[in-house]
Amino acid sequence: MKTIPEILNHCAELSFDLNFSKAKLWKSESPERILVGYLPIYLPREIVHAAGGLAVGIMGAGDRKQIIKGDAYYQSYICHLPRGVIEMALDASLDHFDGFLFPSICDCVRNLSGMFKIINRGKFARYFDYPQNFSPQVGGVFYRQLIQTILDDMEKINGVKVTPEMLNNSISLFNLNRRLIEKIYSIKQNYPWRLSAVDTYHLLRAGLSIPVEEHNDMLTAVLNFLKDDSGQPQDNIRVIVSGSFCEQPPIGLIKSIEMSGCYIIDDDFMLGSRWIMGDINSETDDPLNEIVHAFLERSQFSSAIYDVGNPKGKRLVEIAKRKNADGIIFCAASFCDPALLDRPEMQKVCDEAGIPHINFQFHENTGQFKVIKEQAGTFADSIKLWA
Ligand code: SF4
Repeated sequence: MKTIPEILNHCAELSFDLNFSKAKLWKSESPERILVGYLPIYLPREIVHAAGGLAVGIMGAGDRKQIIKGDAYYQSYICHLPRGVIEMALDASLDHFDGFLFPSICDCVRNLSGMFKIINRGKFARYFDYPQNFSPQVGGVFYRQLIQTILDDMEKINGVKVTPEMLNNSISLFNLNRRLIEKIYSIKQNYPWRLSAVDTYHLLRAGLSIPVEEHNDMLTAVLNFLKDDSGQPQDNIRVIVSGSFCEQPPIGLIKSIEMSGCYIIDDDFMLGSRWIMGDINSETDDPLNEIVHAFLERSQFSSAIYDVGNPKGKRLVEIAKRKNADGIIFCAASFCDPALLDRPEMQKVCDEAGIPHINFQFHENTGQFKVIKEQAGTFADSIKLWA
């Protein structure tokens, strides 16, 4: 039985193991096991689990890898994540992966799916094109066909035919996973000093490269620890960080925000793990239908999704009010089209609601945080003094 510091240290190692050693070891233990890598943001990991696979989140190379070959595949001015991922694909980091899925978030990721086909990585590489029509008869049918295609891809590799019972079991495990994560966020909302933003980040990111059963055990242990009082409250403001759902900010940046006097009480760093709000029905003859409907009806707000009937700015403000946040930090990767296109509208709604906000941009390998610390610190002070 590991102690909480041991669990959190282990999570930190898993989060930045760009060789995915743990996932590869897991696969080596049985010939039926497969690894399916996926890019941010969301993948219904239940379907991979049910097929005897492990869905492994590829969140970029961060500041842990020098990009040399990857720069030749993309324009120099775009965000950093795709160049880091192609660099990982060109060295041995993604060997032993059976397939790759590229959720629809932007053209950079769409192009990455094509590059993986050209360089012939994995037995399948698909653009995972979320529906942008939320009618069950249109987007629902389309989404179901897409998921079925991936189930077929996996069956061709390991011969596992997914039954409703298998899928129900996987759904219930991921339901538990989301519930535990939300409980941890809920405690952090009221007692943010009990678990730092960096530890929270590592805890969630580690779950992208290990079996959900193991992650659930870790989350349960940390949740039990958080129920007891620990740590000392500081005179910090409470902020929500928004816009970092794809390329991930360096750990130093997250640390700098907290050290400058801001408790991060909510964020979208690991949005994919928290995508579906609430449980998906896991006692049904047609679990695929439940996964489809959960996506159509209970997705978190995201720049990856068309939102004409349910604007993102409004939803962000609702979260800020519900969580009693003092302000919002818009923190997006440099050149991140989806986040930066949404930002002005979201800022406008924040202004109308009287919610203070600041913004800055980063690269996943940014190494200088002094300016960000000063900006976040000034934001915190101004709220403490004048809000
Ligand atoms: S960081 Fe933004 S622009 Fe870059 S791949 Fe992700 S969503 Fe696309």
